[in-house]
Formats: sequence, C-alpha cells, structure tokens
Amino acid sequence: RKNIAILCSGGDVSGMNPALKHFVEYALKNSLNPFFVYDGYEGLIDDKIDKASYCDVAGIINKGGTKIGSSRSRRFMQKKYRAIAKQNLDHHNIEMLVVLGGDGSFRGMDIFYKEHGVKFCGIPSTIDNDIAGTSYCLGVDTSLNIIRTAIDAIRDTASSFGRAFVIETMGRECGYLALVSALTSGAELCLIPEVPYNLEQYEESFKNQIAAGRKYFLAIVSEGIKEDVREIAQWFEEKVGIEARVTILGHMQRGGNPTVYDRLMAYKFVSHAIDGLLNEQHDSVICYNDGGFTHKSIQDVAFQKYQLDSELLCHLQDLYNV
Ligand code: ADP
Repeated sequence: RKNIAILCSGGDVSGMNPALKHFVEYALKNSLNPFFVYDGYEGLIDDKIDKASYCDVAGIINKGGTKIGSSRSRRFMQKKYRAIAKQNLDHHNIEMLVVLGGDGSFRGMDIFYKEHGVKFCGIPSTIDNDIAGTSYCLGVDTSLNIIRTAIDAIRDTASSFGRAFVIETMGRECGYLALVSALTSGAELCLIPEVPYNLEQYEESFKNQIAAGRKYFLAIVSEGIKEDVREIAQWFEEKVGIEARVTILGHMQRGGNPTVYDRLMAYKFVSHAIDGLLNEQHDSVICYNDGGFTHKSIQDVAFQKYQLDSELLCHLQDLYNV
C-alpha cells in the first residue's frame, strides 16, 4: 500500500474539514494509507506528520477551519528547509501530497516537486475566489453565506434607523465577494478594485432617491478599493446627506460551518485530486469550470492573473452604472 498525505497551507477556509474527512475515506477505499501533515509547510519541516484514521475525522464535517491547522512558512521558501521536508516525507514513505491552499502554496509545491519529485495535487482553497484557471475555490460559498447573514442583519437596523451602511468585505485585490454579495442582497452601491468608479456620478441620483422617500442605503465595498471604507461613509454624510456607519466584516468571513455546497465541493475536489495522483497527474491543481473538473498545470493556475467573470461584470455595469 502506498502512503498519501494531505496538508492545509495559507489562509484556512470552511470546507477544509469536510475535505479531510473525505480524504481519509477515499484514500482507504483506494487502498492507500492516509497521513495528515499538521500546520502546513511548517509541519512538513518539523515532521508533524501522522497516520490518519476514520477516528480522526469523526464529527468534523460540520466544522469550519481545519482540524490539522494551517500556516504560512518562511522557511519553506528556502532550499535547505525543503530538503528537510523531503527527508521527513521519505521517513514516512510518503510519495503523494494533496495540498489545500492558494496560488502561493502551489508555487511552493511546484518548486518542491521539481527539486525532489514529490507528487502533489493542489485544491484551490481561498474565500477570495481569486485563483486563475478555476471558477470556484473551496470556502467561497460559506463565506458568501456568512456575508449574506451579516448584510441581512445590518439591513434590519439600517431600514429602522434611516442610515447608510458601508460594509467592507474581504477579497484582497479581488472584488468577487463584494460583487456577488451586492447582487444577492440588493445593495445600492458596490465598489470593487477591478472597476474604476467615480462617487460623484451617484450623488444626484442618491439625493433624488432620498427626496422620493428612500430611507437607507447599503453599500458593499471590497477591501481592495483605493479609498478607505470610512471615506465612503464620509462621502455619504457630506455629499449625499445621510448619516452613515461602517461595518468591516473581517475574519468572521473565513469561519462558520461549511455550507452544503462547500461540503459537496470538498468531496468532489478530493476525489478528483486523488484520482489524478493515481493516474499520472503529478504536478497539478484540480480546477472546476462549467460543471466539470480538470487538472491544470501550475503555470496555468499560479502564474496567471485571475479574471473576474465577465457576466458578473456586466451585471455590475447594469445595476450600478459603472
Ligand atoms: P496562499 O497559498 O494562500 O496564496 P501564501 O502566498 O502565503 O498563501 O503561500 C503560502 C505558503 O506557500 C508560503 O508561506 C510559503 O511557505 C509557500 N510558498 C509560497 N511561494 C513560495 C515559493 N516561491 N517558494 C517556496 N514556497 C513558497
């Protein structure tokens, strides 16, 4: 029986625990011995590697985060530490790795594969949904649902109290979370880093809406826009003439019980990752597009810039006139 390990690297997402559970079950079903590497590449270097069994994954499918921990590792950027990581894997006789992470983690694994021949398959995992080559990354749906719950709650107070609420979502340079959240919660304004905007163009229309009886505004802005979220609130107060408040959703967006969709996607990503490793895919990322899964090279995933879905961008233009 061959040995296969899984690890989580970079930011954790909801969906990692369901992935771990299915990893153990699917590895055993394929006559492989499953192992966990704890704490990402740090654990690979420090030999935090253990056999995994059904018991280890009992009762975790409904939990956010990751039971085996994750990390960012400066040491893994250095050749000498990657050599130690390889020795540790050899010691456990592990020749295949499934890596839940982002494009940085995949670039690291690509170097590791080229240096030491450790076969791996990456599973795109980030709430930002900003990985090229795949339309979906594990964790995004749970994050969107957390944001939806927050916006729904904020709407209750905004509508009762007659204020503008400016809500900041995560996403780094990617406006996906903000855009989808704005579209699905009927926000009046959506600002994302990919699309230039000019607040002045909204002033007259927003003032007219207030004159016609509008009591509140919801504005969803992505953390990557050029202005600070507080400046948007100030603009509402000074130029539109409505009291404004700011809510920065922050890290709550990364937690929470994985949604049904993320549990199902975790299941599918892991099955395809292990199938690929058993079928000569040795240096790839498993990607999801148009309802199907394909293995893509690190070059096509981790060295390209993510493009926001053009249909979503059209909706942004239609709805928000940008
Ligand atoms: P993400 O995977 O979410 O994009 P990072 O960019 O922080 O997150 O990368 C995660 C980890 O991957 C880093 O802490 C580092 O250990 C490893 N890594 C990233 N780039 C490289 C690289 N060029 N060489 C070796 N390791 C890398």
